[in-house]
Amino acid sequence: MARKSQVTHCLSGGHLVNARSNENPNIFCNDQFAEEVEYAWEQFAKDATGAEMITGQHRRGRKTGITIEEVYPHIQDIAPGTLPWWCPELGGYTFSTGLIESLCAKEGRQALTSRADAYPSTVAGSSLGLTYANFNRHVLLFPSSLTPAGTDSHSQPSVAGLVTSANYPALNDNRLIDKFGTVSCTLYHEMFHPVDSAGTDRDGPDERDANGKLIQYYAAKTIILANMAGAAQIVNAPEPYVLIALAAYMYRNPPAGKTGLFFVPNVG
Ligand SMILES: [Zn+2]
Repeated sequence: MARKSQVTHCLSGGHLVNARSNENPNIFCNDQFAEEVEYAWEQFAKDATGAEMITGQHRRGRKTGITIEEVYPHIQDIAPGTLPWWCPELGGYTFSTGLIESLCAKEGRQALTSRADAYPSTVAGSSLGLTYANFNRHVLLFPSSLTPAGTDSHSQPSVAGLVTSANYPALNDNRLIDKFGTVSCTLYHEMFHPVDSAGTDRDGPDERDANGKLIQYYAAKTIILANMAGAAQIVNAPEPYVLIALAAYMYRNPPAGKTGLFFVPNVG
């Protein structure tokens, strides 16, 4: 099933395709569901019931157990500074990249979706009768993403507001479609991450530009140029879908008396 129909399916009350459980994916609107883990990877992992995975006790009383690193042996490879966060409500862990004080402290971000590869390794103790959390990927919308702010991306208050005669672009308007992103675009964007059947979790090609900056397919111009260059990763990045959906809506719903506008890329 194509990505867009998977998102539609989920948003219209269906479950995630290829879900890990029958529960609908959680959407959190602040980061209070996730607790800092004091000793990070070295701490004993908690099982799905919230109990530490203790395997024994030395004579001197010191416990032995399975650490978070042993339960999630691969996830540190994602990026330097990846950290676990305990989520009591989920009975498992979510992970952040970068050393941050809380999940929503990540600058320049509006939201995040948990990693596709955040699966516990059942090898690390399945024979010991430990229970492992089994939950779907979840979305975290940062509180700041819910308040339209200035001209940031996804800052327009509503989709309906774009197609009023006051806001609809004039014929000679040369703004690209990303200038019209709405607050709701953030959730729509995130929903494309958990249905990423390739499991790439990526917003770009994992490459850096000539200035060493990570290339990310957020801006319309970047997306258009990447598409013209035949970039393969573009089909896994969410924002191209978001911008096409937005452009299609605006084209099909011009205010009374106005002509529907195509967004012709001016990338010269
Ligand atoms: Zn993204």
